[in-house]
Amino acid sequence: PPPNDENARPRILLMGLRRSGKSSISKVVFQKMSPNETLFLETSNKIVKENIRNSAFVDFELWDLPGQTDFFDPNSDADIMFGLRGSLIFVIDAQDDYIEALNKLHSTVTKAYKINPNIKFEVFIHKIDGLTEDNKIETQRDIHQRAMDDLSDSGFDQLQLNFHLTSIYDHSIFEAFSKVVQRLMIYLPFIENLLNLLITNSAIEKAFLFDVVSKMYIATDSTPVDMQSYELCCDMIDVVIDISWIYGVKDDNASSAYDDYSSSVIKLNNGTVLFLREVGHYLAVVCILREENFDRRGIITYNVLCFRNAIQQLFELMNKKSNPEIK
Ligand code: GDP
Repeated sequence: PPPNDENARPRILLMGLRRSGKSSISKVVFQKMSPNETLFLETSNKIVKENIRNSAFVDFELWDLPGQTDFFDPNSDADIMFGLRGSLIFVIDAQDDYIEALNKLHSTVTKAYKINPNIKFEVFIHKIDGLTEDNKIETQRDIHQRAMDDLSDSGFDQLQLNFHLTSIYDHSIFEAFSKVVQRLMIYLPFIENLLNLLITNSAIEKAFLFDVVSKMYIATDSTPVDMQSYELCCDMIDVVIDISWIYGVKDDNASSAYDDYSSSVIKLNNGTVLFLREVGHYLAVVCILREENFDRRGIITYNVLCFRNAIQQLFELMNKKSNPEIK
């Protein structure tokens, strides 16, 4: 495909010094490895490429690039590697001295930018589980300041970096990866609009569209996201999948009882209701609402169905765009 073709499958590059946590991130988010197991990961000297095809919106190539290699030397195919539509995630170990990492960040993003100014640059200030609250803010401020100063000193003011505080020991890595994927989605504003319509017409507090396999959220309405609501919805997905596995009746050819018709309601003892409905293959909308508003359950179910139809129509449009008919 031509460079930056908006219909091309995006590529996400994971870069950073060795031991910064790149392989751990990829294993925890996409292979469900538990964070403690990453302690024993061996450092690899090769590029590890993975095809992530979870659902219609989480569909990209993930490349884990070893920290010690220079991908811009004349012998490597930097033009090919950085030429496609995608993101470059640079991982910085916040528990370590990060001066060397900042130098590497600077040389990496400026070289990649020269090859392809449309790459989305994301910086993960990683392993923040080891930092106190004050320290987190101070570290983020310091890294942000130094990185931006370096860029403006060398005339790259227009190069935009997005910063995220991450750790594999909590939901922050999933949240950050959600944002990275969202930034690559062409139809994001459209889906956000649909979610806004859904919540206002159904008296819902918050709605997320989830990639069920990775538990990243692909979109949400425009009200602010708080980490607790996001975690609550992630937990609900776990519960629904577990219950489906144990008690669900599956079709002969289905791999699990969790399918396109799955839906679930969980009432919490604080007057909140969680409502989940599958809206596409491994895509679910999860809503948080107040119990008294759930009295109008019929309306909510109907509105979610309308949302589902709109998403299905979007799939058809996406299919047409990637397989255009010859007239
Ligand atoms: P890579 O060389 O960049 O691929 O780094 P690895 O993924 O091999 O990770 C190096 C070490 O960092 C491992 O021992 C991981 O367990 C550890 N690590 C990765 N992510 C985190 C994190 O979020 N917090 C903490 N405390 N350790 C982490």
